Amino acid sequence: MLYNGRMPPLLEARGLTKRYGSTVALDSVNFQVNEGVTGLLGPNGAGKSTAIKLFLGLIAPTGGSAEVLGKTTYDDPDSRAQLGYMPEHECLPSSVTAAEFLMYMAQVSGIPPSQARTRAADVLRHVGLDEERYRSIGEYSTGMKQRVKLAQAIVHDPVLVFLDEPTAGLDPDGRQEMLSLVERTARTFGISVVLSTHLMGDVERTADSIIVLESGAVARSGEVAKLTEETETLHVEVADRRDEFAAALAARGVQAESRGDLFIIQGAREDDYDRVRDAAVDAGARLRRLSLERLNLTDIFRAGAA
Ligand code: ADP
Repeated sequence: MLYNGRMPPLLEARGLTKRYGSTVALDSVNFQVNEGVTGLLGPNGAGKSTAIKLFLGLIAPTGGSAEVLGKTTYDDPDSRAQLGYMPEHECLPSSVTAAEFLMYMAQVSGIPPSQARTRAADVLRHVGLDEERYRSIGEYSTGMKQRVKLAQAIVHDPVLVFLDEPTAGLDPDGRQEMLSLVERTARTFGISVVLSTHLMGDVERTADSIIVLESGAVARSGEVAKLTEETETLHVEVADRRDEFAAALAARGVQAESRGDLFIIQGAREDDYDRVRDAAVDAGARLRRLSLERLNLTDIFRAGAA
C-alpha cells in the first residue's frame, strides 16, 4: 500500500481475521504499530499469539491482512528478516552452550562467521549472560533461558521484535530484570518491541503505546502518554481558610471537588494554576500543595476511564 511518500507503519493489521475451525481468534481487527515499545495486552485466549504468528507469516489469515513495513510476510518472505521472535514456550536446545547457539542463529540469518561471533558475544553481554555463555543451556535457570530466548530473537538486528509473554515463569525480581532488558533493547539497540502479555504491570513500565485485545477484538489502543494525559488533575491543598478558598475558586469559575483541605480540579488547563493562586490571594489562604497528578494505566483500566 502507498502512504503518500511517507514510511508505512512498522506493522498494520487491516480487517485481520483468523478462525480455527469454529473458534474466531481474531475478528476483523485494525491497528498499527509504530516505533518504540508497544504493549499487546489481553487475557489468555484474547488472540495475542495469533496476531504475532500472522505478522511473522507462520500462519495465514482467514481474512484481511497483517503487513510488515507495507508488505505481507506470506507474499514477501524477505520482510521476515526485519522481524525477531521470542516465543512463549521453551524452544531452546539443552545440550549446546548459549555462545554456540547464538553463533549458529547469527549465521543462519546470513551474518558471516567472523562477525557472527562478535555479534553473538555482544548480544549475550547485552542480556547479561557473559561468563555463563559457555555453559550448556540445559543447566540454566528459567530467567537465564528467557534471556537466551530474547538474545536469539535480536541477534540478526531486526527492526522489530515480538516478545510473547517474556516474563512468564519469572519471580518478581526476574520480572523486573526482564522488563529493564526490554526497555534497554528498544533504547540502546533501537529495536522496536511488541510486548505481548496478560499483565498490565509489564506494559505499565515499558510501553510507549498499547493495544488491548479482548475476545479477538481491539478493546482500546493508543499512546500511553495520551491516555494518561486525559486523566490529568490539579491537586491543591490549603493550610487554612478552606471555606473562603472554596468560595474564591468558585468566584473565579474554577470547578473543584473538595475533600477536606484538598481540592481536586479535573482536566486542569495551564491558566488554572494562575486562577488557583489568585483565588488563594483573594481568600487570604496559604497553599500547602499545588501539583499535577496523572492516573497510571492500572488506575485507568480499573476505573474504566479510558
Ligand atoms: P492469547 O495469545 O491471547 O492467549 P491465542 O492467540 O493463543 O490467544 O488464542 C486465541 C483463541 O484461539 C483461543 O480461543 C485459542 O484457544 C484459539 N486457538 C489458538 N491457537 C489455536 C489452534 N492452533 N487451534 C485451535 N484453536 C486455537
